[in-house]
Amino acid sequence: MGEEKKTPFIPDFFRQIRSTFVPEWLKAVKPATAPSVSPSRGQALLVKGGHCVIPHKGIFPLDVKIQGTKIDSIGENLSDPHALTVEVRGNYVIPGVIDPHVHLGIFTDFDTEIVTETRSALLNGVTTLGLYLGGEDSYLGKLDEIIAKIEKRSFCDVFIHLVILSRRQLEEVPVYYSRYGITSFKTYMCGIPGLIPEVEDDFLLDLMEKVSSLGPSAILNIHAENYRIVQRATEKLKKAEPLSESLAEWERSHPAFAEAEAIQRAAFLSKETGVRIYFVHVSSGKGIQSARDLKQKNKNLFFETSSPYLTLNLEQDLDLLYKMVPPIRSREDQKALWDGLADDTVDTIGSDHTPMSSGQKKASVNLWDVPPGYPAVGTHLPSLLDRAAGNGLPLARLIEKMSASPAKIFGLYPWKGTLLPGSDADLVIVDPNLKKEATPQTAASRSDYCLHQGRMLRGWPVAVIKSGQWLTPDSLERARDSFRAKYLRRI
Ligand SMILES: [Zn+2]
Repeated sequence: MGEEKKTPFIPDFFRQIRSTFVPEWLKAVKPATAPSVSPSRGQALLVKGGHCVIPHKGIFPLDVKIQGTKIDSIGENLSDPHALTVEVRGNYVIPGVIDPHVHLGIFTDFDTEIVTETRSALLNGVTTLGLYLGGEDSYLGKLDEIIAKIEKRSFCDVFIHLVILSRRQLEEVPVYYSRYGITSFKTYMCGIPGLIPEVEDDFLLDLMEKVSSLGPSAILNIHAENYRIVQRATEKLKKAEPLSESLAEWERSHPAFAEAEAIQRAAFLSKETGVRIYFVHVSSGKGIQSARDLKQKNKNLFFETSSPYLTLNLEQDLDLLYKMVPPIRSREDQKALWDGLADDTVDTIGSDHTPMSSGQKKASVNLWDVPPGYPAVGTHLPSLLDRAAGNGLPLARLIEKMSASPAKIFGLYPWKGTLLPGSDADLVIVDPNLKKEATPQTAASRSDYCLHQGRMLRGWPVAVIKSGQWLTPDSLERARDSFRAKYLRRI
């Protein structure tokens, strides 16, 4: 009786990848630092028994071996007697989430938030952040210092999007690109009163031409709403209800068709200039329908929605802590966003995290004077894990939108955004059945409140591996000095 030969389970696509995947440029990437805490220096980390979510491929029962800051190999029954082995049986192993949309240093200083908010992100499964920097002055005098602060103090790896507000910045775009490896720039077709001015179409066109001239890696991120339509609606409503405290009123001040119109206009101008456009935080059914139509004809258009729009709607009893731009909309709008994810109209999910305390938020009880902005990176992954299945989006597809897709659009793939040999060892262990209440403590931001506060959410990260380091809330501070976050140059 011959012994049945046991063939290790390795998916077919994976065998090909094993021998051909690692591109030359990736082999040349040196780890930023060698690990010195769990695992000890030079020791491999073996994550066994998890269900690995590999974007675009599926979910597979595979072990992951990590050496230094990189994934060394993935396969069935991996063993290494010298490795630090961790059993995660029953849990999912997902690529570290990339939140492509966060703002830091707006309502409190950057030096504080680069610590507190990246901690909030990392403890909740977000290992890489797309950070927006703004202001009207040249960035040339500031970027070295900001990048140094990121590399010294951040818990997450960070890439930068620059908001382009002035002519001087516009002229300097090629320098930001070549000197700092920044490939994404942002403009606001509709500004935020008191914070950010809107742009007219002449400036928009000049910026599109400038970004397009940098080549196919460059992309223009656009906040798309028609400023005049929003202004018209706001003035009418404000006059009628000057002391309103209603989020429904706020929603009416930013009509969905203002979003749809701006998307269509920007897309039209993209055809004229050849620029790639990434529309941030699309919030409405009308916006999604425009996106769906336009994507048929233009491969240069990408669309993001935000976790609050996917998980909150006006039927819930929400107060002014939930005032945001664009506004939280109806249940029907929310359904359209989930449908947009399912049919690939929507490419990515950001959080638009802009940390504020409840005191900063409630400095006024008048709807019109409450500043927009909210902390969200700490509830980004749990709130979406909680809601995805109920909205018909399988876990593997959700994770694709939260990791691989932003990595591809912003030039980080396959270095980030997937689980493959050679990729950075940023992994999150997710317990799909863990029920826990969302609290400011779980969110771990500087904010004293969080979205979904007091709600039980099902599906939480239980551990995070960042740059090969196994981290839990308890070990994070101890691990502080053992790994350095990276600033991610993209060219
Ligand atoms: Zn934003």
